[in-house]
Amino acid sequence: MRRLFAEYGRENKGYFAAGLIASIFARVLDLLPPLLLGLAIDAIIRQETSFGLLLIPDSWLPTTQAGQLWLTGGLVAGAFLFAAGFHWARNWGWNNFAQHIQHDVRTDTYDKMQRLNMDFYADKQTGEMMSVLSNDVNRLERFLNDGMNSVFRLGVMVVGIAAILFWINWQLALIALVPVPLIAFFTKKFIEIIQPKYADVRSSVGQLNSRLENNLGGIQVIKTSNTESFESERVDDVSQEYFDANWDAIGTRIKFFPGLRLISGIGFVLTFIVGGLWVLNGDLLTGEFVVFILFTQRFIWPMAQFGQIINMYQRAYASAERIFGLMDTPSRIAEDPDADPLDVTDGRVVYDDVTFGYDYDADSTDEEDTGEIIVEDITFEVEGGDTVALVGPTGAGKSTVLKLLLRMYDVDEGAIRIDGTDVRDVTIPSLRRQIGYVSQETFLFYGTVEENITYGTFDADHEEVVEAAKMAEAHQFIQNLPEGYETKVGERGVKLSGGQRQRIAIARAILKDPEILVLDEATSDVDTETEMLIQKSLDSLTADRTTFAIAHRLSTIKDADQIVVIEDGRIVERGTHEELLAEDGLYANLWAVQAGEIDELPREFIERAAKRRSQVDTDEVEAEMDDD
Ligand code: ADP
Repeated sequence: MRRLFAEYGRENKGYFAAGLIASIFARVLDLLPPLLLGLAIDAIIRQETSFGLLLIPDSWLPTTQAGQLWLTGGLVAGAFLFAAGFHWARNWGWNNFAQHIQHDVRTDTYDKMQRLNMDFYADKQTGEMMSVLSNDVNRLERFLNDGMNSVFRLGVMVVGIAAILFWINWQLALIALVPVPLIAFFTKKFIEIIQPKYADVRSSVGQLNSRLENNLGGIQVIKTSNTESFESERVDDVSQEYFDANWDAIGTRIKFFPGLRLISGIGFVLTFIVGGLWVLNGDLLTGEFVVFILFTQRFIWPMAQFGQIINMYQRAYASAERIFGLMDTPSRIAEDPDADPLDVTDGRVVYDDVTFGYDYDADSTDEEDTGEIIVEDITFEVEGGDTVALVGPTGAGKSTVLKLLLRMYDVDEGAIRIDGTDVRDVTIPSLRRQIGYVSQETFLFYGTVEENITYGTFDADHEEVVEAAKMAEAHQFIQNLPEGYETKVGERGVKLSGGQRQRIAIARAILKDPEILVLDEATSDVDTETEMLIQKSLDSLTADRTTFAIAHRLSTIKDADQIVVIEDGRIVERGTHEELLAEDGLYANLWAVQAGEIDELPREFIERAAKRRSQVDTDEVEAEMDDD
């Protein structure tokens, strides 16, 4: 919390000061009317004391009863009027303070979140992150606004009222304050009991969000698997858990607050009876008695609200912890502070003995647990302007090799150099700007087709967009869309087919005109005919720029300058199409499969493929079991 104020409060201290000062004035003014009322009863109506106002000489005051009454009435009216003004200023200040901090914290958290490594996203559920960005940030806002507001109100009320009561009659003040220690005690107990319950609520709401998010994302699978009722039940279960956890907390809360009312009621009754008896005895003036009654009412209730504020504070504290925890998540991929932007001259890329694993830790002292190595000793070179194809079975590590080039992850051993510069020594934006990446998963943002093509190259004009779309064989179908380039595509581009989405992604890469192009199964979703057409335009696109291509359909990469065959994370063969066919190894066999010559495959190749398949299957089962 201190950090929140230090980092975000400072910029908004003007609002804070306005809120604070206005709060104090407003509350002090709130105390005036009851006090003046007591004075009026004793001095004007019953004439038991002489009429006098603090700080104002008696000679200035009217001497007639009616005059005094008018003056008192005027003062009360003035107090109300100014109090209204200050209440407005107080709300203006606090709300501004809270809203500005909320906005700043949210945008900063989001900014930090999207810069975090990919491993972070692999570990965390989207629902959980959404909940930090919305619930936690909102909770901070609520505390900063309502909570802070109340703290100062209560502070002024409690101190001010206690002072006035003691000043009027300290004996009766002591009686009126009897509930205070009781309230403090019960509040402490309440917090101890409610806290773990709130933790449960928070965790169950996280689970609920994750489940809902997951289900809505997978709605198509649910429908096609006919599992609506199964999923409804699962949602019902987590929602029920949330309900139970929440109800448990509510149950405690709704007992606590009436309990406090009861305690304060006892204090009130006590003050009323003792004070009343003293008035009858003549030990206390009627006006003083009225002031006591009015103030005890106002005093006890704020005391009870302390519990609520502490409650609010606790929740805000937990939220702040989560937010800052996220902001402090270290990035495994750090940019060297002295890094220069990457300058691609030839586009020569060298993989120099690269080893990497997603959770591999080369420095781990624990021999057993260094994590799994995914790709090992990868060494190859691509001359500027050449095309290299990565080929191999699923799960061999081809995509991983390319993600390392983009620094989605950093190599654990070895280095990747572009024109002699290690990719870890250049700024990340400059690196990614020069690499166009088209992957199998083409995510489209909510917006128009044109916006999706210019994504990342925002200054492109319409002609350039059309040109790029034509090269990607996308122009035709885009023109046939209801509003052409202005057609909105759904949140996940649901209105377009996989092949159409892929062509938009290719157009995006073409428009970006990068020095280096990475095609990770870029044409996997399009039919063979379209693929052939795209291939033709890709040929001109890749002709004079360094290109990495992963493709399952080997016919699309057979003209590559170099084909690198990867199996189980290692390079097993390397050469041109003809060379590899002559070698008669894995590549030649894969080629034979695709050419339909299955009968001519060596037996051991089929056996190895089957073994590999079963390995992939076991891995998947294990991964699922880990999830549970
Ligand atoms: P390919 O592109 O050859 O099909 P990948 O590079 O996608 O292979 O995957 C290689 C291996 O790395 C697989 O075993 C896969 O399960 C694993 N893998 C891929 N992405 C991740 C990730 N984000 N975290 C952990 N393991 C991963």
